[in-house]
Amino acid sequence: MDKVLKISGVPVTQLATQYGTPLYVYDENKLVEQCQSYKQNFVHPGFTTEILYASKAFSCVGMLQLIKEQGLCADVVSIGELATALEAGLDPDRIYFHGNNKTLEEINFAIEHGVYRFFVDNVQEAETLKKCIEKTNKKLLVMLRINPCIEAHTHEFIQTANIDSKFGISIYSIDEIKTLIRSLQTHEQIVFEGLHAHIGSQIFEKEAFVKEVQTMFSFISDLERDGFYCPKLDLGGGFAIHYTDQDRPIPIESICKTILDTCAQEQINKKTHVKTILIEPGRSIAGEAGSTLYTIGFSKQTPHKHYLFVDGGMSDNIRPCLYQAQYDADVATQMDSEKSRKVCIAGKCCESGDVLIPEMKLQPFSQGDLLIIYSTGAYGFSMFNNYNRNLRPAVVFVKDGKSRLIVRRESLEDLLKGDIR
Ligand SMILES: *Cc1c(COP(=O)(O)O)cnc(C)c1O
Repeated sequence: MDKVLKISGVPVTQLATQYGTPLYVYDENKLVEQCQSYKQNFVHPGFTTEILYASKAFSCVGMLQLIKEQGLCADVVSIGELATALEAGLDPDRIYFHGNNKTLEEINFAIEHGVYRFFVDNVQEAETLKKCIEKTNKKLLVMLRINPCIEAHTHEFIQTANIDSKFGISIYSIDEIKTLIRSLQTHEQIVFEGLHAHIGSQIFEKEAFVKEVQTMFSFISDLERDGFYCPKLDLGGGFAIHYTDQDRPIPIESICKTILDTCAQEQINKKTHVKTILIEPGRSIAGEAGSTLYTIGFSKQTPHKHYLFVDGGMSDNIRPCLYQAQYDADVATQMDSEKSRKVCIAGKCCESGDVLIPEMKLQPFSQGDLLIIYSTGAYGFSMFNNYNRNLRPAVVFVKDGKSRLIVRRESLEDLLKGDIR
């Protein structure tokens, strides 16, 4: 094995020299592969299908351009994500607006820019949407977010469908849902298209998705019996990826097949008339394609720990602090050595909790070596924060031996430009 790791043919030392560290590095071929895998496998003779990239996982113009080129749609949850998708040239027809508390500014901005696909999260939002669209002569296509009340086995902070979830209307509030659908259907400028559900994130069990499909088809069958037609069903995202060797994610091919076969079976069982099935993968498109490169700084021994400090931390990857997310790493400039040293990888932020990997075995290293943490492509860059006024790292895409800058490193000037003197 070479001493220095290469990403898509580019040595990490070259990336670090050219762009500095910390650095978010994406293997562009891997991003394309994930998109194509969904495109090829999320198809079924019984349904039309649509794949919406959940852009919150990793949103920047370069990424949304790639999504556009791959022929996917995107969902956005804020004016910032929306503007990013538009800036990337995504057709407004392919942008879906999510979120449990869209502001008036966001709703009006979307409508002004030709975005008309909305997920309605609650009753008050429906009323607000009506008022906004009535000021124009445009139309809205809306789907209703339902909380299916299914508890997927994942960390409680990334569960989204427990009974007290802040997202969607509980599936048990059937009368409220019917009243809401009726009020949407009878509005002249609104077309009600169907239902949406999303049960959580980093979900490993096929059964959770099967249960979600069964639950939603049962519900749609109840609605159809009362004359409410739901031609579209969006099942959300949440497909798990590989972070450490403990993780055994369901292959994309297999999860797509399970979902669509279950939909087809349920359509027969429940005699429903669903036409289109949508999914919203985020993490599983961007996660494994991205890694973070750091420069190793100081290290120190305490009675129980051998600390290794890197030049980033909870500002560029808050997931370990937020929900004990686990990662794998290598000393990317000592790849030919045994992983024999037990270390705690900590960041440079002023929080004791600023630990990226609490304990793992790593190759021997010295100050100035590069460290790579894998599978940081989703919810790393997108959750970046300026704590300690750390500067946002650059993002690069690498492909077939070449790298290109996607987001430039934040400069001190960028950092200070909003501060009033
Ligand atoms: C976060 C989210 C997704 C994407 O989840 P992943 O785990 O990244 O696939 C999809 N849909 C909705 C509504 C979400 O909130």
